[in-house]
This record gives sequence, C-alpha cells and structure tokens, in this order.
Amino acid sequence: LEAKEEFSHKTLAMDVMRPRRNDPILTVITQDSMTVEDIEAIINETTYSGFPIVISRESQRLVGFVLRRDLIISVESARKKQEGIVSTSQIYFTEHTPPQPPTAPPSLKLRAIMDLSPFTITDQTPMEIVVDIFRKLGLRQCLVTHNGRLLGIITKKDVLKHIAQMANQDPDSILFN
Ligand code: ADP
Repeated sequence: LEAKEEFSHKTLAMDVMRPRRNDPILTVITQDSMTVEDIEAIINETTYSGFPIVISRESQRLVGFVLRRDLIISVESARKKQEGIVSTSQIYFTEHTPPQPPTAPPSLKLRAIMDLSPFTITDQTPMEIVVDIFRKLGLRQCLVTHNGRLLGIITKKDVLKHIAQMANQDPDSILFN
C-alpha cells in the first residue's frame, strides 16, 4: 500500500524531462550551421534560459550549452561593434571555422560563451538520483541523453515541481516561498 513511495522510486529522468510526448521538440542550436538571424529568431520565439548546442540536428550529439543571456549580449554587441556582421553572418561554436567564400559576410565566433561540459544524465536515471545530483551540485539544469543522443532537458524548476508532486503538494506553493 506504499503506492506513492513505489511510484516515486520508479520515476525516471525521461518522465520528468522536457519535451514531454506531445510538446514541441527541444530547441537546440547547431554548432556551425546557423546564422545571426536564425539565432535571433530562437531568442525572439522562445523564453528558455538556455540552449543545448549539438553537432547537427541529424546526429543530436551534444557539444555544449549556452545561456540565453550570454547569446543576447554577444549577438547584440556583435551587431553594433563588429564590422560586417549582418543577418546572414554564419555563427560558429566550433574551435575552427571553415574558409568562407569571398562573397560571404564575416562570421561570428561564439565558442567563448559556450559551456563545454554541461552536466548530462541518461533518460533511465531514477529521479531520486537526479534530485540528489541537483542538490549536491547546485545545478540549474541538466541535459538528458540516450545512447549519446540528446533527448531533453531538466531544469531546477522541473525538479522542484517533481518533488512537489511526489509530496502531493501544490507545485506552485513550494516554488515561491
Ligand atoms: P525554468 O524551468 O526555470 O522556467 P526555462 O525557462 O529555461 O527554466 O524552462 C522552462 C521549461 O522549458 C522547463 O520545463 C524546461 O524543462 C523547458 N526547457 C528549457 N530549455 C529548453 C529548450 N532549449 N528547449 C525546450 N524546452 C526547454
């Protein structure tokens, strides 16, 4: 009759991570195939605090994580201060940038603002352990992978909501006091 207890032991990272089954897909940034306007569109169309950076959409291999505020500052300041940066300028999070065709506008290198080793767990990690990791490491977010492919994200707030649900409380009540 320890239903709640049993349930809580069985909750896995994949049950708490976003996106959920019917959600829109995870918003990611690719390391070498987006332009200034692509990044500005992501900034304008979402409110997420950060974005995983992947090698390519097809591979979904994680290479890093970038905070929204760092992206905004870097792109805005490049637009103002960096000669030749326009909407079609390519953005690179890679170490090396491929040679540009002579007609291409200058590209923008943003590797410096990328967190090169964001914390990751697999989708099968029990939430008990995830909660522990968030507490002990003071994480703000954690990325979820399966066989090396990026699947989702869990934020601190997602973890707090999960804890509240486990405790059968109104999630909003513990979040804001
Ligand atoms: P918080 O959880 O503190 O509100 P965010 O605004 O970053 O932080 O995230 C809001 C929700 O969206 C969370 O449930 C989170 O799991 C999810 N989320 C965060 N980043 C992304 C992303 N890049 N793509 C899709 N969902 C995301």
